[in-house]
Amino acid sequence: MDNREIADRLDAFASLLDLGDANPYTARAYRRAAETIRGLAVPVAELVESGKVRELRGVGSGIEARLRELVQTGEIRELAELERELAPDLIGLGRYLGLSATRSVELARALQVRSAAELREAAAEGRLRDVPGIGPKIEARLLEALAREPDSQPRHGLLLNRALELVGGIAAALGGEPAGDVRRWRDSCERLAVVCRATDPEPALAAFTALPQVVALVESGERRALGVTIEGVPIELVVAAPDEFGAAMIRATGAAQYVAALEPLPDGTDEHAVYAALGVPWCPPELREAPFRGEPPELVELSDIRGDLHCHTTWSDGRASVEEMALAALARGYEYLAICDHTPAVGAVHGLSPDEVRRQGEEIAAANDKLAPFRVLRGIECDILPDGRLDLPDELLAELDWVQASVHGGQRMPEREMTKRVSEALLNPHVSCLSHPKGRYINRRPENALDLDRVFEIALACGVALEVNGLPDRLDLRGEYVRQALDAGVRVVCSTDAHSVRGLGNMELAVATARRGWARAADVVNAGPLDEVLRR
Ligand SMILES: [Zn+2]
Ligand SMILES: [Zn+2]
Repeated sequence: MDNREIADRLDAFASLLDLGDANPYTARAYRRAAETIRGLAVPVAELVESGKVRELRGVGSGIEARLRELVQTGEIRELAELERELAPDLIGLGRYLGLSATRSVELARALQVRSAAELREAAAEGRLRDVPGIGPKIEARLLEALAREPDSQPRHGLLLNRALELVGGIAAALGGEPAGDVRRWRDSCERLAVVCRATDPEPALAAFTALPQVVALVESGERRALGVTIEGVPIELVVAAPDEFGAAMIRATGAAQYVAALEPLPDGTDEHAVYAALGVPWCPPELREAPFRGEPPELVELSDIRGDLHCHTTWSDGRASVEEMALAALARGYEYLAICDHTPAVGAVHGLSPDEVRRQGEEIAAANDKLAPFRVLRGIECDILPDGRLDLPDELLAELDWVQASVHGGQRMPEREMTKRVSEALLNPHVSCLSHPKGRYINRRPENALDLDRVFEIALACGVALEVNGLPDRLDLRGEYVRQALDAGVRVVCSTDAHSVRGLGNMELAVATARRGWARAADVVNAGPLDEVLRR
């Protein structure tokens, strides 16, 4: 078993633990371990055998035992049992219909069905109402849900990084192209789609049904199928005839209103051919939201980025040292990297005292001696206190090259107070950039009540930039707000807020989010040279 397969099994175990209503921290620990193993350069099987696997971050004795079992026997017995008990295809279909995992299992037991197909059959035969607790009303709702078009279903979107991995994996397995929300880099992906090109659709449809990621089929047609994952997330497969591939890609990628405004689409072997036949310039997928037939701007590209201005090290809650982060940034072709560790008010993790900030400065100076002309910037992620003051004294902030100001605690303030708090901080002359301005965690915590128009005004007047944070569960500012900020004349910074070397890779998510806000390279501070960054 290679690292990828082992990580997939741990992920599957985490999903089933979730479904089995286990302690959420346990499931999260397995997911984190899976992520670590995926990014590992050495085979994890060797580490298990040499007894060194516990040295990996996040691998405790429980996970070590499961890894050992997996490496030695090729399976996790408890996982196999859970899979039998919880019938993933039933759970997937149940979730898709809005039932909890527990409810799906109860339903399956009462109906004595063991698969999604049997559940559908039982529903069609009118047996649902025989189940205790299911009256005609719930039966009607379930039958309607089974018949309903997937687009009208309210559900939780997948985080972009997870959706990219899922759709990318399926597209690669089928030799197709990722489409849907993933291709538009939406922050939360609901429509997942893959488009394949084939004269005969049968092989791709059969391969799709056989994929481990697809636990049940909800619909199938001549050139189209809709499957669901164990989380109940629908995934659409379109198998287009070669001369219709371009139109199929456009339809499977754009938001409904964008596509509707382009219809009727002519045939074409690729998107460029279809756009050309329409007499409309090709449009980057990130902009295919509202109807648009014009000339798109030249959007910022990942390759325009010259440095990262927000990352953490072992001085606070990061996993790598200053020098390790700098070397990784250098390897990405960057010219500079700002080290922005936390300050004490952040609370949950260690924040740097003034003395530590100065000692870190010496470490940064040493790294600069070694790595010049690459430049490590002395930065900080300074908490904005509830009254708008910053968490470090001004004379210390004045020594630094780059100051991120961040709201972490006390985010439930009413809009007026929150806006005042943030505005006050932006007026501090040492602040360079406002971090994750809206403070949301996608699917977990709503946005802070913050009057962005007022923030844009002050940021513009003070020359402060706004961050587009690339953490997959933040992506903050999001696309719509980026566009508003740019319209107001404010510039943005694309940052990763990396807490590890690997975290620097989230720059593509930050850049894609900025692109969704119509950002060009000139709008992005860190697409510019170092002297421009420092002049701010
Ligand atoms: Zn932060
Ligand atoms: Zn941070």
